Amino acid sequence: MGGAWPEVVILGGGFAGLAAARVLERARIPYLLVDARNHHLFQPLLYQVATGFLEGPAIAYPLRALVRRGRVLLARARAVDLEGRRLLLEDGDVLPYRHLVVATGSLPSDLGVPGVGERALLLKTLGQALRVRHRLLMALERAAREGAPLSLVVVGGGPTGVELSGALAEFLRYALPRDFPEIPEARVVLLEAGPRLLPAFRPALSRYAERALAHLGVEVRLGAQVAAVEERGVRLASGEGLVGDLILWAVGVRGNPLPGLPADARGRVPTDPYLRLPGHPEVYVVGDLNGLGFPQLAPVALQQGAWAAGNLLRALRGQDPLPFRYRDRGQLAVIGRNRAVAELWGRGFAGFPAWLLWAFVHLRELVGFRNRLLVFLDWAYTYLFREPGVRVLPD
Ligand SMILES: Cc1cc2nc3c(=O)[nH]c(=O)nc-3n(C[C@H](O)[C@H](O)[C@H](O)COP(=O)(O)OP(=O)(O)OC[C@H]3O[C@@H](n4cnc5c(N)ncnc54)[C@H](O)[C@@H]3O)c2cc1C
Repeated sequence: MGGAWPEVVILGGGFAGLAAARVLERARIPYLLVDARNHHLFQPLLYQVATGFLEGPAIAYPLRALVRRGRVLLARARAVDLEGRRLLLEDGDVLPYRHLVVATGSLPSDLGVPGVGERALLLKTLGQALRVRHRLLMALERAAREGAPLSLVVVGGGPTGVELSGALAEFLRYALPRDFPEIPEARVVLLEAGPRLLPAFRPALSRYAERALAHLGVEVRLGAQVAAVEERGVRLASGEGLVGDLILWAVGVRGNPLPGLPADARGRVPTDPYLRLPGHPEVYVVGDLNGLGFPQLAPVALQQGAWAAGNLLRALRGQDPLPFRYRDRGQLAVIGRNRAVAELWGRGFAGFPAWLLWAFVHLRELVGFRNRLLVFLDWAYTYLFREPGVRVLPD
């Protein structure tokens, strides 16, 4: 591959990579954005695609449409050659760099539980979200044909598990009486190994989330550690078996490091406080992959991406880098159509005001005006008619 490519390379067009690109755009520095897929994905709303409340393209945006002064290369990196300052691409090509920002994010982690890879459904990519929706609709059709009960098991009581199980319960609440009256009973079970849901939130908000989920009909089981995912359900560490037509794995993620980068036990890459790889000040590692110990959340990724690009600009000007400082603005999790929990400015609140705030923040953070409009219209439709709009099974 020739020297025509810019010397500043960003690997990964997620939250962190895109934030870095925006800083370089403003500074008019040419850069190359490399990603294995051609779109930026707004992962926080994947669960709504999985449950039919949103269309897939509404939360994805083509990278080429976002980049003005930089260039985009659709390619999967296979490894980093730190000494040679080259990215090795899966198709055999080699990409030299002078400065590299690595933002390859994270991957779902099976935590060593047998059967997860083969039998559980994951939620990290658009393809996986559409697969969940497809499997959900197929499971409903099968249960309707057999006149059998349906059981959906969500594993993991963090924000993703809470949001997903709430949305599944709302979906069933609408779809069962109207579309599938043949199904005698449907349950959504949320399993959490720890003593409470949403462990990163204050206990009062965890209790609120439990009550709100129970109100939607979700059976919350705390202290329920999954030991194996089996053919027709899960086996708990206590030995108890639970039937599940679908098992949705929302437990946790590990870093997605490239071979050639040093990584810790959780797959995250340790950096210095300036977000640079020790011994390689030309390489920045940001977002879910960064091993400084920040939570794997979108605001961290956005801030680290922009910060690393700022330090890169300082390096180009011969200035010293600045240590990363995270501005924690709080956290949010939504439970169904009207309720959410929020922890902001050191205060916790819940209910409809938190839900409004959640909706506002997500619409604001979505990339692209078209996507904001699509999501807003879909939400307005669901809100008014209580109907999850996307229930068509492709051929
Ligand atoms: C279901 C779900 C719900 C979530 N909900 C929330 C939430 O409500 N609030 C919140 O703050 N955070 C949430 N998160 C976490 C948030 O999405 C992540 O923290 C954030 O995406 C991390 O940004 P990133 O840029 O590090 O990685 P990502 O956004 O994952 O981007 C990584 C990019 O790197 C590319 N890539 C990876 N490997 C390669 C390779 N070898 N070659 C080329 N390209 C590669 C990928 O294609 C991708 O575009 C959620 C995550 C998930 C999965």
